[in-house]
Amino acid sequence: MSRTGLGQFGVMPPTVVREPTRDGEDIQICPECGHPVVKSKGSQRIEKPDLVHVALAAAFDVLVTFGWRCQRHPYEIVMPMRVGGDDASAFVDGWTGVEIRFSDEHIRHVATPEREVTEHVE
Ligand SMILES: [Zn+2]
Repeated sequence: MSRTGLGQFGVMPPTVVREPTRDGEDIQICPECGHPVVKSKGSQRIEKPDLVHVALAAAFDVLVTFGWRCQRHPYEIVMPMRVGGDDASAFVDGWTGVEIRFSDEHIRHVATPEREVTEHVE
């Protein structure tokens, strides 16, 4: 059996994770194509997240986060909302911050449901 074309067997390529960007009119846009992504705001899935915390990295094939996505590319682009640190509860109750390496190699905190983290790591 051919090993190519894994997508058709449900194996997703890693999601491209980019920092949220706004244009001159303060509208949320995709950093790659400049298309407004305001309407995509909500829960997003990051396939094969590059998590900094080793225990988390081993536990997560898919990370749920909150932010925007752009679907105008042959790959998924997710732009997680920026959170200040480990405590994301100021942003949404019951969510926590985890460190993830973005596609530009910078490490930032993104929000994820706290329940997912405790279930995976304990
Ligand atoms: Zn785009």
